[in-house]
Amino acid sequence: MCAQRQLTTFAVIESKTYWRCAHCQATLLADAHLPTPSEEIARYAQHKNDPHDGRYLDFLRRFVDPLMVELPTPQVGLDYGCGPGPALAQMLIEEGHEMHLYDPIFHADASQLENKYDFITCTETVEHFHQPRVEFQKFNRMLIPGGLLGVMTNFQTADAQFAQWHYRRDPTHVTFYREATFTCIAADLGWHCQFPARNIVLMRKPREA
Ligand SMILES: [Zn+2]
Repeated sequence: MCAQRQLTTFAVIESKTYWRCAHCQATLLADAHLPTPSEEIARYAQHKNDPHDGRYLDFLRRFVDPLMVELPTPQVGLDYGCGPGPALAQMLIEEGHEMHLYDPIFHADASQLENKYDFITCTETVEHFHQPRVEFQKFNRMLIPGGLLGVMTNFQTADAQFAQWHYRRDPTHVTFYREATFTCIAADLGWHCQFPARNIVLMRKPREA
């Protein structure tokens, strides 16, 4: 996660070990217990990201509104981890932006990762990252100087609830973040970081790269 990687065992739940980084407060499923690609695909088939589902669109709108404050003019963006139904990208296109899609399962077009972007969106995706540090470094390479990364994920709350937390119980959710975790990620990369709404972080790469 962060450069420090000060990992100790945080919990063992249903024989799966979770680590905690003492530096960035991330909670990580131990490597030995990470789901296989076929287990992930089986689970994703149950996800409901229907662009016509009003509740899902309301959920995404909570993310789009603070993002649009930071993107007042039409720009070129990548939706990383877009899933099967690119509802978020559709909303951003309606806001005037040009959107590219990438998803390791549903839109596995690696050429999209060679481009540079004004902004990257990553909703309900970072909790699936097996190597979060590598992924955030990838975002840093793809963002232009001054570029924006918007992330939405359920931030981890009280440790006492962790075992019962619905977010943890999804077997493909393997990395859990707090505000402190994103603050550390941003500091490692030299980015600015703000939390405009619950479970949302916006990170800005400085203009002078
Ligand atoms: Zn860490």
